[in-house]
Amino acid sequence: PFDVLVVGGGPAGATAAIYASRKGIRTGVLAERFGGQVLDTMAIENFSSVPYTEGPKFAAELENHVRQYDVDIMNVQKASKLTPAPTEGGLVEVELESGARLLSRSVVLATGARWRAMNVPGEQEYRNKGVTYCPHCDGPLFKGKRVAVIGGGNSGVEAAIDLAGVVAHVTLIEFDSVLRADEVLQRKLRSLPNVDIIVSALTTEVLGDGSKVTGLTYTDRTTDESRTLELDGVFVQIGLLPNTEWLTGTVELSPRGEIVVDDHGRTSVPGVFAAGDCTTVPYKQIIVSAGAGATAALGAFDHLIRTSAP
Ligand code: FAD
Repeated sequence: PFDVLVVGGGPAGATAAIYASRKGIRTGVLAERFGGQVLDTMAIENFSSVPYTEGPKFAAELENHVRQYDVDIMNVQKASKLTPAPTEGGLVEVELESGARLLSRSVVLATGARWRAMNVPGEQEYRNKGVTYCPHCDGPLFKGKRVAVIGGGNSGVEAAIDLAGVVAHVTLIEFDSVLRADEVLQRKLRSLPNVDIIVSALTTEVLGDGSKVTGLTYTDRTTDESRTLELDGVFVQIGLLPNTEWLTGTVELSPRGEIVVDDHGRTSVPGVFAAGDCTTVPYKQIIVSAGAGATAALGAFDHLIRTSAP
């Protein structure tokens, strides 16, 4: 069995594996796709000490770093079930889709998340060419330009307020007839001079010139008319879905499906820790996930030295 088995090979999982293996304990890392969301990212400019890199390069360096250590890397493997240890300090079992079973004295869950997409024509085609899901990451790329934010929940309204300070103009588009964000955020948004709010609007297409976004079309749901906006960017903020479906019923999840963790990365199951975008951590960023991965691995190590091997 492993001492620490990490499930997920993104920034959180890779960092957890590095921290665990540096304690000289048996460490394994299991990933459906080593690198995680970073593989879908173009420029990364907010990881301190690395002024500029690109997603695939960052992912390759993450993997190289893990390979410096004696870590058992199991790539292209998907976990499908977790069974808590039968007794305190016993072995946790992780079952894979392939049917294989892995046992470990502790587990770090770092399965990340995925952005909910609008699923309209042009969205995939112009991804990273004007269509983006992360205002903290990509806001500065649209300095002085016109953008739309899709979604009037807290994340959409926060994104619109944030972007209004960076870009020339923001149009917030909400499907419903009202915004769902907290009142205080809505008040702030409405006070900004360079923001328009359109409600009852169904985005139907992202428009582009073949190389970048030029606008979008939406249907006004009150009149059924189709309208077009000229834009340089579209920030989609209609939800982040944690990859935790397989944990329902075993580990405590928040109403949004995020794994509930404490400040040591502990979950509701003894010996099971979690880190990164799959958890209740408030900000979903590479550097935040990497830090949480370190915390969870050290939390797991702490657990190991307090329980004897079965
Ligand atoms: P992830 O990166 O999502 O990794 C999860 C890992 O778990 C993957 O290896 C996945 O294959 C694996 N996995 C999932 N389910 C299972 C399972 N059942 N069994 C086994 N393995 C599983 N952040 C920034 O800080 N700066 C940026 O510039 C930036 N740009 C971004 C651009 C895009 C397009 C996207 C999508 C995100 C961006 N982010 C950026 C956010 C950043 O990528 C995430 O916050 C970060 O990758 C989260 O790391 P993580 O390790 O928690 O999860």
